Amino acid sequence: MRNTATQHTATPTHCPYCALQCGMNLTPAADGTVEVSERADFPVNRGALCGKGRTAPAVLSSRVRLTSPLVRSGDGTLVPASWEEALGRIAGNLARTRAEHGADALGVFGGGGLTNEKAYTLGKFARVVLGTSQIDYNGRFCMSSAAAAGVKAFGLDRGLPFPLEDIPKTGCVVLVGSNPAETMPPSLRYFTELRENGGTLIVVDPRRTKTAEQADLHLAPRPGTDLALALGMLHLVVAEGRVDERYVEERTAGWEDARAAAMGHWPEYVERITGVSVPELREAVRLFCEPEAAMVLTARGPEQQAKGTDTVGAWINLCLATGRAGRPLSGYGCLTGQGNGQGGREHGQKADQLPGYRKLTDPAARRHVAEVWGVDPDSLPGPGRSAYELLDALGTDIRSLLLMGSNPVVSAPRAAHVEERLRSLDFLAVCDVVLSETAALADVVLPVTQWAEETGTTTSLEGRVLLRRRAIGAPEGVRSDLEVLHELADRLGVEKGFPTEPEEVFEELRRASAGGPADYSGIDYRRLAEENGVFWPCPAPDGTDRTDRTERTDGSGGTTEAAVRHPGTPRLFLDRFATDDGRARFVPVSHRPSAEEPDDEYPVLLTTGRVVAQYQSGAQTRRVDELNAAAPGPFVELHPRLAARLGAAEGDPVAVVSRRGRAVAPARITTGIRPDTVFMPFHWAGEGRANTLTNPALDPTSRMPEFKVCAVRVEAVTEA
Ligand code: SF4
Repeated sequence: MRNTATQHTATPTHCPYCALQCGMNLTPAADGTVEVSERADFPVNRGALCGKGRTAPAVLSSRVRLTSPLVRSGDGTLVPASWEEALGRIAGNLARTRAEHGADALGVFGGGGLTNEKAYTLGKFARVVLGTSQIDYNGRFCMSSAAAAGVKAFGLDRGLPFPLEDIPKTGCVVLVGSNPAETMPPSLRYFTELRENGGTLIVVDPRRTKTAEQADLHLAPRPGTDLALALGMLHLVVAEGRVDERYVEERTAGWEDARAAAMGHWPEYVERITGVSVPELREAVRLFCEPEAAMVLTARGPEQQAKGTDTVGAWINLCLATGRAGRPLSGYGCLTGQGNGQGGREHGQKADQLPGYRKLTDPAARRHVAEVWGVDPDSLPGPGRSAYELLDALGTDIRSLLLMGSNPVVSAPRAAHVEERLRSLDFLAVCDVVLSETAALADVVLPVTQWAEETGTTTSLEGRVLLRRRAIGAPEGVRSDLEVLHELADRLGVEKGFPTEPEEVFEELRRASAGGPADYSGIDYRRLAEENGVFWPCPAPDGTDRTDRTERTDGSGGTTEAAVRHPGTPRLFLDRFATDDGRARFVPVSHRPSAEEPDDEYPVLLTTGRVVAQYQSGAQTRRVDELNAAAPGPFVELHPRLAARLGAAEGDPVAVVSRRGRAVAPARITTGIRPDTVFMPFHWAGEGRANTLTNPALDPTSRMPEFKVCAVRVEAVTEA
């Protein structure tokens, strides 16, 4: 039973899954289910949805939905309990850990799917209530390298610094390590329209993906070598006299060092490293440089590497040398993955940041946020460990963990080790909607509301802040994450400052973000509802947190909202970059090998990724029958030559073994992958868990693990 009456009218809202945040209408039906219908007024997807979005309501009424708190009983099983008991156990254990081991023995792990309000409140809860520095979130595994590279080059990270609608109007797009045909299918139309308009699409991917099949040019480098590929292209740009000297002179700094680094990467040398031929490199440079405008868009391929920041930096250097950043219809952008991957990193659940995308080490930022929070700036902890480092410290330095909106048993690198670390904790509390693989390890599990049952804001990959509206009441027995944090704060002695109403939280978030890089102070729920979203930065017009309408003086009774409202910022950097002097920075980078290169024992490369019918760790989508029918389990994609060496036929089980473990899944044989590489999707647990194999080697700047490349051997599995 749902605990509130529902209206049988359509509510315009957004998909709970990926960063495209497609618009949809939700209508409660008489039987308690919810129907999805087309919402054509939202410009990004114009009514189109992928199968994940179309079936998202199935999780709302899933028979495996949690509707009661669970606590670990004396015999080790999880049993239903009252909210009072469950919250009391969490508060008691967190307080005990803090008393015995200090505040930094408490860990908090969030998620890129949490709304802005939840991400903000979780960060505040960790720092104000628990007093711990040990908070990070799974978005670290998503776009952190692109964020770090964007800050280095432009002084600011916003996934896309221009709206998606610019893509069809540019001359060439280089998509690096991105497969939107599977990850966000409705976005594919932007690339189709680009080609219909005469533009070209270059896809860089070791696999011939569904997206690569549509490209004018597909470059298939060895996994982990796209840094060298970008350097080889930049070398040719210089050698062929294609540098935009005037732009470089007027709008950038640091060119000479970047140029010198690139000139050491001769095309023939790059061909040997990457496997991409010199003629292909030349053709890519020609297609990219000939039009007046062009873009480079990266995703997890170049980013999820132990040199991810430098790899993205190399692609940004290519944009800067050719004058393709901060100009109309040109630029570098990152296609963020998780639903609120952008907003989730702006409001304080990241280990080193405060709301408004402020640095935790910046004294002025600490003073500003502390004033909004009503605390002493000196009481705020400093930066903590990054996501993998935090998970690796569980059971040793970190004794108790509160986890919200994440399933690291499936999604973290070296997952068997992470699972063991979670098991070694003194205490684990998890908030989730189903009993995920991580929740199943918890001492207390709290059942929480889902997207359609609560209002909140998200920030899409365009930097467009959106209002995701509540469309249906929640089932009895569940509470929102905001209520959970309010109740825990209360039990831990902080009675005020943790509202349960999302709009009240957003009003505080506006004040906390005011003046910061991600300034939301000019945005409110009313605007979001009226304008179909607002792009940040959007400061309040007079530097306060007001966006009040003013009455017209012509007696018409109308208002002059436009005159007082900041319009939001769909396009960044057109006049200046967000650095002190307004210039973009070249960052000199050079090729270096991956953390693990093939050797006699592990002669093949593994790369991981996604399939269209599953989302991230699969916690939700693996509970949807239609999606499971379409994508029932993991597989190992391999080239016929490798399959022949193993004696494996299509569908035969094969084992993939790395230095961290072994995974077994059926073979999927295709010429669309390099013979030296195998691919596994990472959505599943059990013996086919791809992340059992992946390498937690970290990027020194972004602290991103190397999900995208590690050395493995592949073995035929013989029946016992
Ligand atoms: Fe949802 Fe992303 Fe699919 Fe759109 S593309 S329906 S946002 S999962």
